[in-house]
Amino acid sequence: MFEQALTVAGTNYQVLCEETGEAILQIRDNIVVDINSAALKLFGFVDKASMKVHYPVDLSPPVQPDGVSSGDKGREMFEIACQKGNHCFEWLHATANQSIFWAEVRLTRISPEGAPVMYAMVRNITKRKETERACFLEAQVFELGRQAGLITDQARVIVSANRAFSEITGYTQQEVRGCLLDAVLYSLQDLENCQSIFHVVDTCGYWEGEAWDRKQNGQIYPQWLTITAVRGNNHEIANYFAVFSDITERKSLEDRTRHIAEHDFLTGLPNRILLVDRLRQAIASARRNNTQFALLFLDLDRFKFINDSMGHSIGDKLLQEVAKRLRKCVRAIDTVSRQGGDEFIILLADTGNAKQIAHVAQNVMNAIAQMFEIDSYEFSMTVCIGISTFPNDGEDMDTLIKHADIAMYYAKESGRNGYQFFNEEINARTHERNALERNLKKALEKGEFILHYQAEVDFASGRIVGAEALIRWDHPEMGRLLPPRFISAAEECGLIVSIGQWVLERACRQAKYWLDQGFPIVVSVNLSAAQFRQRNLLQNIADTLRLSGLEPRYLALEITESILLNGQDSIYETMVSLKELGVKLAIDDFGTGYSSLSYLKRIQVDKLKIDRSFVHEITHDPKDTEIIRAIVAMAKSLELKVVAEGVETAQQFSYLQSIGCDEYQGFYSSQSLSGIEFGQFRYDAGDGSLQSA
Ligand code: C2E
Ligand code: CA
Ligand code: CA
Repeated sequence: MFEQALTVAGTNYQVLCEETGEAILQIRDNIVVDINSAALKLFGFVDKASMKVHYPVDLSPPVQPDGVSSGDKGREMFEIACQKGNHCFEWLHATANQSIFWAEVRLTRISPEGAPVMYAMVRNITKRKETERACFLEAQVFELGRQAGLITDQARVIVSANRAFSEITGYTQQEVRGCLLDAVLYSLQDLENCQSIFHVVDTCGYWEGEAWDRKQNGQIYPQWLTITAVRGNNHEIANYFAVFSDITERKSLEDRTRHIAEHDFLTGLPNRILLVDRLRQAIASARRNNTQFALLFLDLDRFKFINDSMGHSIGDKLLQEVAKRLRKCVRAIDTVSRQGGDEFIILLADTGNAKQIAHVAQNVMNAIAQMFEIDSYEFSMTVCIGISTFPNDGEDMDTLIKHADIAMYYAKESGRNGYQFFNEEINARTHERNALERNLKKALEKGEFILHYQAEVDFASGRIVGAEALIRWDHPEMGRLLPPRFISAAEECGLIVSIGQWVLERACRQAKYWLDQGFPIVVSVNLSAAQFRQRNLLQNIADTLRLSGLEPRYLALEITESILLNGQDSIYETMVSLKELGVKLAIDDFGTGYSSLSYLKRIQVDKLKIDRSFVHEITHDPKDTEIIRAIVAMAKSLELKVVAEGVETAQQFSYLQSIGCDEYQGFYSSQSLSGIEFGQFRYDAGDGSLQSA
């Protein structure tokens, strides 16, 4: 009866076993004695007979994840199950073809006495384990990452904070858990900012950018912040995820890089790049607030001279000291910038009237005028300042800078050490000058230049011994223009070289013509600095002479002292070569420059032309009379000819003659004349001989 009941129960149990779908194995003395079809499938066996194996050793890898062998560990599990009746645990199983899977095993002891009979219910949990592992790794990444991380619920209440968060901010995880994200992150404490950030997060999924945060110790630091919305299955926002890092270091590197790019290396002042930026801001702000500001364009006087003569190291130190002084002259809101060389621009933000601006300019001049002491040298400096104001003198950067520059140029022209506001007159003159330059470009082609000649007369014989070629421009609208009106413009735009070449050719042809007519005369041509710097000057002159057929001794070149004082050896070399070529050399406007004798000894110049300003003063100022007397005496000792320019009166004539001057030039003998007029003049004078008046 009991037996029968047991059999029926056994049969029912077997049916149940088959039906559950769970893999079940029956084990006796560690041998699998029966299995259901789910287990057959799970372990990959073909039939029940082939499954008579040792459990769990034959159905497991040799060791379990904790390093214990599957045999030992299996025995331990069996013992527990025997004692407790059943035991559930995780186990690493292997299939018939040795592929490993994670299982959850429930061992149940079913025979109350004798050799234990066990049922093992095995469930494949590999998928669940993988998910768990992934979650674990994610949590590790969150926890151990270098970036601070905060997770909130959908109401932005913090549910989790990682280790980096504590390290960066100094707040513990407990302190912030349960707090509102908006209250913890400093940049979100500003309501408007917070709303606009979360508007982006909620609509675009995330926001990222630079933000400021405050650490627990009160320190404010820059952070790179990303806030992401995490959506649940129903697509509603379930969490927010805030990640940030401290970017103080990166920022300071960036700041340093920017500082280098925006500042002058030598003086540490803002350079042109930064000035342009500040200027843009100043224009925007002045427009908004209807205010004005000023630009001061500074150029040190004679800096080049100091730099060249005392050495660049002293020049550099001088510029550094100038920078220091300039900074002291202005307010913190103003910008002192170096444009390069000895040029500085000061941006006076939000200035008052012209009087106040002039006051600053005067202060700057005073500051520069203080004695400089560098490397035991002492020297004084002066500066010229051009001023333009917004909006009067220009509404954009380029115009403002250009006009300040032009004004500075006028300050230089009217003597060193001064300031000059840009104004209408300068504006008009600039326009005129620009128009002049445009016309100059065409004047050569259109044949608008003519050459005049002024006689150089020998005191002793009264004969015309030379003629100076002087250019004139017959301007189509302005009439005949004298050189002071256009020579400096031509020099500035570089046209002087081609104009000078034209003069040279003309003068040589004229001299040759006179020579052929039996009237030998030396024609003098004025050379400007740019011509003198031409590399092929010597060749040009030689070619021009050859083409005209004029012997070199009938050509004289007049150069000013300032050309010589530029000091390069190449200038002396050129002069020596010119002398070798056979042309004559004259120093023009002598007495107005440095009047250094040293170069006169170095080069064999033929004559000095005493500037007409000295001659003009002869009757008025005994001092100038002394200078002329000294110049003539000196020239005689160096065996140079002396020519007096601008002789207008009989008084001047006789004085110059009395002190031994060789030749003279001036209205007293004649004005400058065209080539034909000059020929007539010579003829009237008795073939070149002038009677003294
Ligand atoms: P510069 O070389 O000193 O020329 C003499 C200037 O004095 C000429 O003026 C001449 O007309 C003027 N002058 C002559 N006698 C008298 C006088 O008795 N009284 C007064 N008050 N002035 C007198 P200009 O022709 O206007 O030339 C001015 C300057 O222009 C010249 O000064 C010279 O430096 C420059 N220049 C003239 N022609 C040329 C040229 O072809 N090339 C270059 N590079 N410069 C030239
Ligand atoms: Ca001259
Ligand atoms: Ca002269």
